Amino acid sequence: MSEHGIVHLVGAGPGDPGLATQRALDLIARADAVVHDRLVSPRLLDGARERAELIYVGKRPGEPSMPQDEINALLVERAGRGQRVVRLKGGDPFVFGRGGEEAEALTEAGVAFEVVPGVTAGVAAPAYAGIPVTHREQASAVAFVTAHEDPDKDESALDWAALAAFPGTLVFYMGVKRLEAVAASLIEHGRSAAEPAAVIERGTFAHQRTVTAPLGKLAKRAADEGIEPPAITLVGAVASLRERLAWFERAPLRGRTIAVTRARAQASGLAARLAELGAEVIEAPAIRIVPRIETEEVGEAVSRLVAGDYDIVCLTSPNGAELLYEAVALEDRDARAFAGTAIAAIGPATAASLLERGLHADIVPPRSIGESLAEELLEHGMRHKRVLIARARDARDVLPEALVNGGGEVDVVTLYETVGEQLDDVTIAAIAGADYVTFTSSSTVRYFCDAIGGPARFPAKARVVSIGPVTSEAVREAGLRVAVEAEQHDVDGLVEALLDDAAS
Ligand code: SAH
Repeated sequence: MSEHGIVHLVGAGPGDPGLATQRALDLIARADAVVHDRLVSPRLLDGARERAELIYVGKRPGEPSMPQDEINALLVERAGRGQRVVRLKGGDPFVFGRGGEEAEALTEAGVAFEVVPGVTAGVAAPAYAGIPVTHREQASAVAFVTAHEDPDKDESALDWAALAAFPGTLVFYMGVKRLEAVAASLIEHGRSAAEPAAVIERGTFAHQRTVTAPLGKLAKRAADEGIEPPAITLVGAVASLRERLAWFERAPLRGRTIAVTRARAQASGLAARLAELGAEVIEAPAIRIVPRIETEEVGEAVSRLVAGDYDIVCLTSPNGAELLYEAVALEDRDARAFAGTAIAAIGPATAASLLERGLHADIVPPRSIGESLAEELLEHGMRHKRVLIARARDARDVLPEALVNGGGEVDVVTLYETVGEQLDDVTIAAIAGADYVTFTSSSTVRYFCDAIGGPARFPAKARVVSIGPVTSEAVREAGLRVAVEAEQHDVDGLVEALLDDAAS
């Protein structure tokens, strides 16, 4: 057996990727192989290295899952090759996760292992439903129970009399389909049919649903609502606290599926904001930014900037601000290179990106579009002003043309290129169910349509949210309708407009 191979039995948490532990994220990022189950969020797997092998051992519809002894053998074999293996399981690996059996098999084979506990669904799903599993006045104990018995076990393996008499909250994992039998057994053994109870489906996921009813009516209510696995069933007085404490399901974008089409490197801010507001976010990066700063053209512009040749430098995107600074750094210069030059930023996001680099924008127009920046600059007078416009390839010519017409001497330099990105089948399938598709630039519109196979394939019920008029124009050119246009042309403005639309 190799000295270095190790298996980490890691809890992924119940669903919301934000509930994975720091240790879990660190180990996934360093793993050679990640062996994962069905209930693990794909977002966590995104954190694995490019060359890490992702091995799915859960159930697929209509197919059985990999037998436990095969999973054990796989873990032993991978560790034997000296790999760092992450065995990633939903919730906590030792709570109804068969982590114990895997640890035993590893011990037997002499393989080193480590356990990383996770947030278990039996606590997390109730918490997201507004139900504390213990409460100083209402529940001093909590029991985790499996409602789905090992089929080989005798039916009576669960002591229903003891469970019914348990002085506290009962939390059942699995067995939504056996809900009626569970409730009947508890009532038969003395639990009150009037006791508050709840079923929480897909707890902590954006589409979490909760049904509450007295124990005697819970099974029917859940069946009427079409509750499906995975779900947690909870029986206890604490279930009634949900009436006042149901925070998660009240989130303003709850139940809405929203596609974010901007480049992966920039998507996370917007995606996180939307998720925090309760939305199910589909990251569908239709574009990628390719820097082009190591060119002669850029080198020349930077030399002139450093020499103080320009009166004004214009940045038209946060990417531009970042890359111009990088281009300056390539010449072993820093923020002082901008000392004698006025800086104009097209909008607050670009200004913020500059500020991160210690540069304060002198000019930020009221509306974040080329026309508005041109107007603002022309007011300052452009005659004989030497201007550098640093921007993306194929950007619109409104700004340079207006400044030239105003008498300016304008250099335009290309800092980056925007290229299309393919979307995988899973993402494309998810997009079909989107309620909103957000566009943050005209290139996201064009490349998104390409990626889904043309505007005709645009998701039927999805409303288009556009960051501003230029993007909206591209949406209309694609033959689509703009449902929402942000008044303020940045991410904050876009989120605000989307919230307004969702509330109306
Ligand atoms: N180890 C896991 C449990 C695995 S057993 C943990 O600690 O959470 C699988 C059962 O867990 C499911 O049948 C369901 O009852 C419950 N479960 C897992 N994820 C869930 C979720 N997001 N919402 C509700 N129940 C969930």
